[in-house]
Amino acid sequence: MKRLLTAAVLLGLLTACGKEGTPPPKGPQPSALPSYQVRSGDAVTGSATLDAARGRGKLVVGAKEDQPYLGAKDPASGVYSGFDIEIAKMVAADLGFRPDQIDFRTIASANRETALQNGQVDYYVGTYTINDNRKKLVGFAGPYFIAGQSLLVRRDEEDIKGPEDLSGKRVCSAAGSTPYQRIVKDYPKARPVAFDTYSACVDNLIGVQVDAVTTDNTILLGYAAKAPDELKLVGPLFSKEPYGIGVPRSDNALRSAVNDALQRHEQNGDWKRAYDATLGLSGVPAPEPPPIDRY
Ligand code: GLU
Repeated sequence: MKRLLTAAVLLGLLTACGKEGTPPPKGPQPSALPSYQVRSGDAVTGSATLDAARGRGKLVVGAKEDQPYLGAKDPASGVYSGFDIEIAKMVAADLGFRPDQIDFRTIASANRETALQNGQVDYYVGTYTINDNRKKLVGFAGPYFIAGQSLLVRRDEEDIKGPEDLSGKRVCSAAGSTPYQRIVKDYPKARPVAFDTYSACVDNLIGVQVDAVTTDNTILLGYAAKAPDELKLVGPLFSKEPYGIGVPRSDNALRSAVNDALQRHEQNGDWKRAYDATLGLSGVPAPEPPPIDRY
């Protein structure tokens, strides 16, 4: 029962049940979110992806749906919210699409490259680390944020204080993710467990089927903030995860336009306003956005 309840809290199912006098649940507050001025739609030329999106009148954006403060889908309304969702919206506005013209589609970590290659999504915004292997398959705009790999354990855990303590421990991460690959490669004595999503890992952590969850600190901070009595982050950050916006590899016009959009919204303050209203709620003040890499 405890496990079920916690899962419900993580999914935000209890947000409507707050009694008078109880503090409001933490989470993106819609009123504080910026809105982005929609620019004229045809400014960007030469992008096959955008031409197709204009033809259908909708932009299809890949995202996560179970990462609090980053990409989270309200189970009742189906509405997506979080920092990644705001990044997707500010970019869409510069490409000529209003928020109601964006169809968000949940794509798990392991399926991002194929989704972009098959044209299932026009672009992807969901804690997606830029690296050379992935660049062989997709294009990346950004980075728009730098995260780092960390560990989430149960509140009462005393043995695991950092990645060096993972020998013999069951360590859960998402299939196809860079943190999963790093555990397999750099911590061969750990016992890696892969699920499609980090929320499945967190359920298994609370249910004592695994000993730790590993992924980006941003993602883990969100789960910890939702269940502070049961979970905690431990240890140093042990990687750099620069977040990019995934685009189809051959669409250089789109990649360049997304970079322009990121740069503009970083400079005009939208980026910081969006951060403060979403990821900032997990307790880390806004850093400076990293320089964009126009490779
Ligand atoms: N940023 C890491 C990655 O892209 C972990 C987060 C995720 O799986 O989305 O693999």
